[in-house]
Order: sequence, then C-alpha cells, then structure tokens
Amino acid sequence: MTDGSKKTAQTKHTKLLIVGSGPAGYTAAVYAARAGLDPVIVAGMQPGGQMTTTTDVENYPGFENPVQGPWLMEQMQKQAEKFGTEMITDEIVDVDFKANPKKLTGASGREYTADAVVIATGAQAKWLGIDSEEKFKGYGVSACATCDGFFYKDKEVVIVGGGNTAVEEALFLTQFVDKVTLIHRGDALRAEKIMQDRLFDNDKIEVMWNTELDEVLGTPPGTPGAEMSEIGVTGVKLRNNKTGDVTEKKVAGVFIAIGHAPATAVFKGHVDLDQDGYIKTKPDSTETNIPGVYAAGDVKDRKFKQAVTAAGMGCMAALEADRYIATLKAKPKLDAANKNTVQKRPAAKGPGGR
Ligand SMILES: Cc1cc2nc3c(=O)[nH]c(=O)nc-3n(C[C@H](O)[C@H](O)[C@H](O)COP(=O)(O)OP(=O)(O)OC[C@H]3O[C@@H](n4cnc5c(N)ncnc54)[C@H](O)[C@@H]3O)c2cc1C
Repeated sequence: MTDGSKKTAQTKHTKLLIVGSGPAGYTAAVYAARAGLDPVIVAGMQPGGQMTTTTDVENYPGFENPVQGPWLMEQMQKQAEKFGTEMITDEIVDVDFKANPKKLTGASGREYTADAVVIATGAQAKWLGIDSEEKFKGYGVSACATCDGFFYKDKEVVIVGGGNTAVEEALFLTQFVDKVTLIHRGDALRAEKIMQDRLFDNDKIEVMWNTELDEVLGTPPGTPGAEMSEIGVTGVKLRNNKTGDVTEKKVAGVFIAIGHAPATAVFKGHVDLDQDGYIKTKPDSTETNIPGVYAAGDVKDRKFKQAVTAAGMGCMAALEADRYIATLKAKPKLDAANKNTVQKRPAAKGPGGR
C-alpha cells in the first residue's frame, strides 16, 4: 500500500469526497452531510451536471408543474450546502485508490484525501456535432426520449441512430407520437434481432437507410423578434449518403440516439470498468471492487439514465460509505480489544484442553 497520508499545504482531507455535482453527487452529499461525514464535492466542468442543459423537467417527483433543469440543480446544491457540504470548483485528473487515505488530484494541482469516495461523474450523450443541433438543444433536439418524448404527443419526430438505444427509444416514442422516422446512415441496424423485429412490426415507425441528418430547421432560441411560441424545430434536412440527394422533412422533434460515453477516463485502471467504460458495481449496491469507493448515477448505469435514478443511487452510495467509514473507526478499537484478549488468554493446554 502506498502511504497517502503525507499532506501538502494544499491537501484537503475529508471523510467523504464526492466527485461530480449532478443529481447523484448532490443526493449523496445531502445524506452524507446529515450523517456527519463532512462531505466535499468536487464539482467538475459542468456544475449541476446534465440537467443544467435541459429546459422543462416534468418527471422529477415533488413538483406538480414543470420545473427548469438548471433551477432544479440549484435547489439540490442549496439543500446539500445547507447541511454543511463544501463545494469545490475543480476537476479530478488523477486518483490513487491504493493510498490510505485515498488520494485524488485536481486540475488546479490541489490534492484531496478521503476515507471514502463516491464517483458520480455521469455520462455524456454523444451528439452529431452539427451547428443546428447545438442551437436547438432543449428546444426540439433531445438525446433522451424517456425524458422528452411526452412533449411530442400526436406529432411527428425523427430519431438518429442504429443500435439498441435508437431502436428502444423509437419504440418508446410510438406511445406518444404520430410517427417516428428512424434515420440510419448504414443499410443494416446494429440492434438485436428481436428489437429489430419489433421495430419493423410497428406501423408508426419508418426507417430511412443510408441517410444522414444535415441540418435541423426551425426558429432557434435567441432569434431577434421571435415570440416564445415560435421557438422550436419545424423540420430537418436529410442527405442520402449513396445518391447525395437532399430532402426536407417536416417534424416537430429530433432525437439523437447514438450512445453515451461515461466520464470514467480518469478512473481507468483504478476501479473495474465494463467494456464500454461504465463502472462495475456489486449487485444491489454502489460498491466498486475497491473497498471505500462507490459509484452512483449515470457513470454506472447504462439502462435508466434518469435524474431520479441517479439521485437514488447517490443515496445508496452515501449510506454505504457511512457504514464503511464506521468500520474504519471501529477497527482500531477492535484491534486493541483483540490484542488485550490475546495477551490475557492463558497458555493453551493442548488440543481440547481447558
Ligand atoms: C438534454 C437532457 C435532458 C434530460 N432530461 C431529463 C429529464 O427530464 N428527467 C430526468 O430524469 N433525466 C433527464 N436527463 C437525464 C439526467 O440529466 C441524467 O440521468 C442525470 O443528470 C445523471 O446524473 P448524474 O449525477 O449521474 O450525472 P451528471 O448529471 O452527468 O453529472 C456529472 C457530474 O460529474 C462532474 N464530473 C465529470 N467528470 C468529473 C471529474 N473528472 N472531476 C470532477 N467532476 C466531474 C460533472 O461536472 C457533473 O457535475 C436529461 C439529460 C439530458 C442530456
């Protein structure tokens, strides 16, 4: 074991360090602060996480009416701080989980040591990277059908992708929309056969093969003189990558479903990751393969990816970390007690002798 106890002037020590300030990180902080763990959150490059990039949120429990994503995250931060969480603006760029206590290094050069760590660094949806996609994000362009599908009741939408996620999301969208057109750049889907069968059996879904999204059309936010009711997507420009033909299609929404990338580059080689970079945890737990290191939220969840599930896992991680830290406190006392018992025990009289 490396000795991580050597502290520099810049070292910040805490019982529980939380990496990431999305719903998972803030919820872990609320529980940890109330348990007296003096949590410190290192917020990362996107304070508040992915929810700060969306507008109306209608599925986070507790609010009868839609709330704005950035507002919701501000409330979570205030709640965590109210119970004594310390927020630090920094990004973790290196970790040493073999050290005791565990050691993490920030981009600022600052060192952090902690008895336990919750990793809540989330995952980022992959985007196509075209200008118009960026302009309409949250205003007709979404990377989450579960979150935003409901807003397109009885409307027509396109979804871009060809893997399991795209097919699952296209099927999910048919519960609300009139029609979904799946835009795929190739001539065969990568999704599992059973998912493809369901897709092709669904009358509401059409597939456009060898097709790419060139441009999202409509009135983006910030357009001078535009009324709020005029802001949004009205169509897409599509290009057939075999013939070069460009066509326009009228739609009210665009879903991008080309995958997610968990933010785990810095943890590679330090905790077990799966083949796609998600952190592996034990069943029904947030415990990683390293004692005292927990993972919560989208960083370990390839399935649900919701604010409320991330928050739930944040709660689990804090409770598990609390129990772990309690065992650390109990250990020296137990060791001392065992030592005493051993010293006091009379010499053995041979097998079975008393
Ligand atoms: C456009 C959009 C709309 C959505 N709408 C909804 C919705 O309506 N309802 C819903 O339930 N869900 C919605 N979601 C999904 C929801 O946002 C995520 O499931 C949720 O935010 C995941 O929370 P998290 O805490 O796991 O991670 P994230 O929210 O991704 O937060 C990750 C945090 O980790 C930090 N971080 C990353 N790397 C580092 C590092 N090296 N050091 C320090 N910090 C780091 C980041 O700065 C960030 O603060 C939406 C997502 C998107 C993209």
